[in-house]
Amino acid sequence: MKIIVLIKEVPDMEKVRFDSEKGVVDRSSAEAEINPFDLNALQEAVNLKNKFGGEITVITMGLPRSEKSLRDAYARGADRGILLTDRKFGGADTWATANTIAAEIRKIKDYDLIICGEKSVDGDTAQVGAEVAEFLNIPHAYYVEKVNAVSRSEIEVTIENICGKKQNRKMKIPALISVTKNINYPELPLLERKLESLKIEIEKCSLENLYGYIKEEEAGFNGSKTKVVKIAVPKEVKRESKIYKGNLNCYMKDVIHMMKDKNII
Ligand code: FAD
Repeated sequence: MKIIVLIKEVPDMEKVRFDSEKGVVDRSSAEAEINPFDLNALQEAVNLKNKFGGEITVITMGLPRSEKSLRDAYARGADRGILLTDRKFGGADTWATANTIAAEIRKIKDYDLIICGEKSVDGDTAQVGAEVAEFLNIPHAYYVEKVNAVSRSEIEVTIENICGKKQNRKMKIPALISVTKNINYPELPLLERKLESLKIEIEKCSLENLYGYIKEEEAGFNGSKTKVVKIAVPKEVKRESKIYKGNLNCYMKDVIHMMKDKNII
């Protein structure tokens, strides 16, 4: 089984600071790591490979330093890492990001399944996976909590309870699934693979290498359909609370008075 896993490198959200003056995330304030949801995507690929055999290719689009996350992915069981990196990919919104990733996958051509995380912990749009599948014109399922069966031509998955009940979905292969945190427990990397990961070659891909699969005007800032106009940090709302006890009639006047005072009524 040939599996492609999409991983995004994100800042450690426990430590990262927000520069409220500039309205940007201060990425230098925290180490970068694999998006936690993508560890579940990678683990599911490893589980499927252990069952059916095959190869796992991990793709990330990011800065040159994201090579580190691809080495980490190797240590966790991937076979091959591809880094999409180029200044011309900069300023990409989710559409341009997905278009570029899809171009690389079209170039790879031979694959059965693409697995991505439910969402990233920094961008948090949960759009890239579905957009990649749409660009590739393949079926996809979001919020997958279990892979039930895989055959040569089909995959059957269970989708988390989102609209009142769980759903089972069968899709033709190749397909894309985005998995939730409940699908598995990501294992820690093995020391032996960690050491090996320092020596492996990470394939780097620039816009030029994707010639014939994506046009320059479709990538990066120029290929983005959305623009960030303004970023603001929401003001902290100070909450007050008061507990009224006893007979309702005793404190109703107080409550009405308080609500008028605060222009609620
Ligand atoms: P989600 O859609 O939440 O991620 C879902 C899954 O898709 C992930 O779990 C992962 O499996 C996969 N995935 C997501 N991103 C990647 C990736 N890069 N590589 C491989 N797999 C991935 N970011 C910048 O760094 N610089 C900018 O200048 C910039 N400009 C932007 C401008 C606009 C208008 C917008 C909307 C966004 C901009 N971004 C920029 C953010 C960038 O678009 C997102 O980081 C990127 O598209 C991923 O979106 P997300 O984080 O919401 O991922």
